[in-house]
Amino acid sequence: MNFSNYEQSILIVDDEKSNRNILTELLSPVARIILAKNGEQALKKALQHKPDLILLDIIMPDIDGFEVMTSLQSHPETQHISVIFITGFHDEFAEEEGLSLGARDYVTKPFSNAIVMARVKTQLELKKKEHQLHLLANTDILTGINNRRQYETLFEKEWNRCWRSQKPLSYLLIDIDYFKKYNDSLGHSAGDETLTKVAECLESSLDRPADFVARYGGEEFVIILPESDLTAAEHVSKKLCDNIFNMKIEHPKSPHKFITISIGATSTIPSEEFNKNKLLNKADDLLYGAKDKGRNQYICG
Ligand code: GH3
Ligand code: MG
Ligand code: MG
Repeated sequence: MNFSNYEQSILIVDDEKSNRNILTELLSPVARIILAKNGEQALKKALQHKPDLILLDIIMPDIDGFEVMTSLQSHPETQHISVIFITGFHDEFAEEEGLSLGARDYVTKPFSNAIVMARVKTQLELKKKEHQLHLLANTDILTGINNRRQYETLFEKEWNRCWRSQKPLSYLLIDIDYFKKYNDSLGHSAGDETLTKVAECLESSLDRPADFVARYGGEEFVIILPESDLTAAEHVSKKLCDNIFNMKIEHPKSPHKFITISIGATSTIPSEEFNKNKLLNKADDLLYGAKDKGRNQYICG
């Protein structure tokens, strides 16, 4: 869980170059700056960069700031971005309208640099806290990888994405072999340490950005490979079994002498008939097959 290495970014949206320049100079010491000179660019860059904060001008040609705000709010990928309106409007109605659309704050032009800076810093601090809370809620406290809650969220998202594109999604259920005996012979804290090493090894064995691993519970993990067929699942399963074995973590009570894993791997193109539960049950059956056949192996089907 890394709280410190998080670079924040601000998208500045203004049709006047001089305003963009002033704000860039003012705010670049506190965040990475992204610029947009109209509403259309603002929406595109918001989606592309997912900044922490948007400083949004209201009066612009074509799409005005209120419309940009409404679009941002209606898109699941941008609705969490904080917005501060910066505008030449001085009337109460415009301010109320901006805040009721979901803006976090409102600054009028001509603005004082100190006030803009103070308000921006407040919003960036809040964003940092939200980010930390999100990590805490979605990270497994022992191993530092995704927890069961994050698995549910990501699985749903990737399942839907593969449904739309009609591409296969692979599902790997992974269980550490003879782990009860490991705890019994070396102690629970050695067990915890090994569980963490296994989690880190699984995570670092994945290459593609959309692939993810989560702790499913106890000494069980799940890996999802979006847009990957059974051949890919087999390739990854082999690599995972090899990488875990090659850590050579001694296991005094295992016939394999070292810590090993068993994997049940399956793949499907999402559909009405073959739902998420069927995928999970199939992976579970295959995993028990791998256990039955002696562990330290994968079965794909
Ligand atoms: P198998 O090869 O059939 O998977 O046998 P196993 O002993 O690994 O499986 P079993 O389900 O019988 O036991 C799982 C053990 O995993 C029980 C428990 O001691 C251990 N375990 C589960 N969660 C944790 C944890 O957070 N820390 C530690 N140290 N051990 C855990
Ligand atoms: Mg086990
Ligand atoms: Mg188990």
